[in-house]
Amino acid sequence: MKDLANKTVTELHALMAAGDTTPSEITKAVAVRIAEEEPVVEAYVTTLVDQAEEEASACDARVKEHGLAGTLDAIPYALKDNMCTDGILTTCSSKILSNFKPPYNCTVYNRLEDKGGILIGKTNMDEFAMGSSCETSALRRTTNPWNPEYVPGGSSGGSAAAVASGMAPYALGSDTGGSIRQPAALCGVVGMKPTYGLVSRYGLVAFASSLDQIGTFTKDVEDCAVVMDAIVGHDAKDSTSVPEQHIDMLTGLKSGVKGMKIGISQAFMGEGLQDEIRKSLDEAIRVYTELGAEIVDVDFTMLDYALPAYYLIASAEASSNLARYDGVRYGVRAEDYDGLVDMYVKSRSEGFGDEVKRRIMLGTYALSAGYYDAYYKKAMKVRTLIIQEYKKVYQSCDLLLTPTTATTSFKFGERTANPLEMYLSDLYTVPVNIAGIPAVSIPAGLDAKGLPIGLQLAGPAFSEDTILKAAWAYEDQTRYTDLRAPLQKK
Ligand code: GLN
Repeated sequence: MKDLANKTVTELHALMAAGDTTPSEITKAVAVRIAEEEPVVEAYVTTLVDQAEEEASACDARVKEHGLAGTLDAIPYALKDNMCTDGILTTCSSKILSNFKPPYNCTVYNRLEDKGGILIGKTNMDEFAMGSSCETSALRRTTNPWNPEYVPGGSSGGSAAAVASGMAPYALGSDTGGSIRQPAALCGVVGMKPTYGLVSRYGLVAFASSLDQIGTFTKDVEDCAVVMDAIVGHDAKDSTSVPEQHIDMLTGLKSGVKGMKIGISQAFMGEGLQDEIRKSLDEAIRVYTELGAEIVDVDFTMLDYALPAYYLIASAEASSNLARYDGVRYGVRAEDYDGLVDMYVKSRSEGFGDEVKRRIMLGTYALSAGYYDAYYKKAMKVRTLIIQEYKKVYQSCDLLLTPTTATTSFKFGERTANPLEMYLSDLYTVPVNIAGIPAVSIPAGLDAKGLPIGLQLAGPAFSEDTILKAAWAYEDQTRYTDLRAPLQKK
């Protein structure tokens, strides 16, 4: 029994290279897993199984004749449903875009296609990436593959759940305040948000443009390095894309952490931190010390200000970005209306869900004359202070090790009544976006309920290679990334 759906990308590649499996066999195994688990997990808004199987059988002959082009060649993958795919639904899990088929492809899709990737589906998310549990999706109810009574996290919950359940060997997501790392932690997979500007966002539906970044979901750290390596690089079509910046994430990946300085801050261990997560952090400190890293205590005084600043900045930008959905050019238009203004009002009222409306109202308020200085401008000043704080932190250490989240996954409905409680899910991930720096969430075992724990490693801009090196060393010692969620069948 090859159990292909549970294998990493690197393992699948090796099996194909050795002639022990074929592209068709791999895609078929993933398709079978989708047929089994999707009725319970509902990770996808759209599955492209038939199309993927056709592509895979075309790969069979090519690979047989010419060999594999690279590690991602002939491997299926999933994209979050806020990444534009030509002629394929791209809904942002919103009613307002429920019929939207973009006329072009996002850059990350093109990059993965160039590497021989096979798109197998588009994953569910919180509506317009606003949320931390996938519960704001207007289209699907994604469950946590470890226990379907629990949420997968969000907003990229579908991508995290697809990878955790073996329904995609890897997936991409977007992270504005934690939307890759938080669901990765809650679903027990590796999730990386790279430095702002490192991966092109051309064709990513904008939520908060100064924070949004595309990143990866994989089963282990080596796969993370492989997929990141495939999607980074300058893109003239994205004005925030950084000029060519070569980060070698693969060569030194397994070279260890001897002499590396890993920072720990008490600020991330305040009340509300689940005891088991605190213990995981202690264990990680032990592991790193044994491996020869130096643990240093650092101050992080700005943590309390990060969430309020984030919700002002992100909502302000969202209120502007989402102004384009008015029922005129694309998306859903209200059926009965009386004149132009009424058409706008009805299309937006019917098309957006409550959380999206809340953000639009909050953002519009924060940007309005008379309140701009008190809210938006102040939040931007806090942003500068957070950037400065990280600069100081990284003078005394190479990386900062924290929990990814204060708690493991929670039940459906547990945090929906109080938006503030939901917002607190991102307490530890949001500062990273505010500063535009990279971070990864890595699996750190399970709690007493059998739900995954995640730890976060964050570094200065363009330190993806160092972050992944440290993540790999931890994985190699603990093997937590070998744990697989139980099969969920109806
Ligand atoms: N959960 C956060 C929010 O709701 C972050 C979302 C994200 O990173 N896209 O805004």
